[in-house]
Amino acid sequence: SDAHGLAADETELAVEGALRPTSLAEFVGQQKVRGQLELLLQAASMQDRPADHILLSGPPGLGKTTLAMIVAHESGRPLRMSSGPAIQHAGDLAALLSSLVPGEVLFIDEIHRMARSAEEMLYLAMEDFRIDIMVGKGAGATSIPLELAPFTLVGATTRSGLLPNPLRDRFGFTAHMEYYEPDELERVIARSASVLAVDVPPIARAEIARRSRGTPRIANRLLRRVRDFVVVHGDTAVGATEADVAAALDLYDVDAIGLDRLDRAVLEALVRRFGGGPVGLNTLAVTVGEEGETIESVVEPYLVRIGFVGRSPRGRVAMPAAYRHLGVPRADGALE
Ligand code: ADP
Repeated sequence: SDAHGLAADETELAVEGALRPTSLAEFVGQQKVRGQLELLLQAASMQDRPADHILLSGPPGLGKTTLAMIVAHESGRPLRMSSGPAIQHAGDLAALLSSLVPGEVLFIDEIHRMARSAEEMLYLAMEDFRIDIMVGKGAGATSIPLELAPFTLVGATTRSGLLPNPLRDRFGFTAHMEYYEPDELERVIARSASVLAVDVPPIARAEIARRSRGTPRIANRLLRRVRDFVVVHGDTAVGATEADVAAALDLYDVDAIGLDRLDRAVLEALVRRFGGGPVGLNTLAVTVGEEGETIESVVEPYLVRIGFVGRSPRGRVAMPAAYRHLGVPRADGALE
């Protein structure tokens, strides 16, 4: 998805890779999840078996892929990466599963987008390390059981609600990733700044963190744009100033609290066009010209989290904080 510029060109992806922590100890924040994973991995390693299957859910850019890599790295096992959209037939999954080496960690990103037929095959594979392969068609069709090497599945999803219960139930551990606090983002930025060899003093770090929508991937992206700005307009010997940060991020339409153009388009539509709601999600999505799924999994969770948008049985509603941010008086004349 291109929303929030989360997709990037290949150079940017390479840089993103370089910024990824490789151990739980380097992974910033998510203290609860980290502790839970640590125990799970340690027990598996002491008993010399693959760890239980792990489901990671939460908005994009919060570290799900990074954690999958860490699981493989910390348990000293190889990692295979795939994604729901790449598994469109049961056969795709059969090929993937039957080629795993014993103990391999299989990461399936966007697991909620896998084909239905593959989902059913996955239930059995997760539980018994076995699949049934259908051979032939019609009356002559038979199924041949195939033993698999034991593996650890790490599934990631932006919407755990979309997973069928039988699939969700087969994960031994489910973690919900939360948006990061500003001080945690500051630590992500400090670490990344040293990898990128750019000097970002604490005050500039705090300013970037404030505008990162609680999301490490966005923090890293904004940091790279600030670095660009300092290289071109600033003084690399001094490093990034607060003014550099503001100028760089204004240039990329990131506002003072980190909302980007799409976030603001959704808020503007909700407040100005629909009188603050309630309005259905799909109507909102059509109005701003985006996919309903992007609005629901990327835009809305953050706006809800900061108290700008509420969910009611009849649709989404704008909260007072949203009016204040847009500088729009409320139609009912309510005083703040
Ligand atoms: P997701 O899979 O949830 O979309 P990623 O794991 O790809 O997110 O993370 C996106 C970027 O943010 C990566 O460059 C990663 O290094 C960085 N990142 C995410 N979480 C953390 C964290 N807790 N500490 C440090 N960097 C992080």
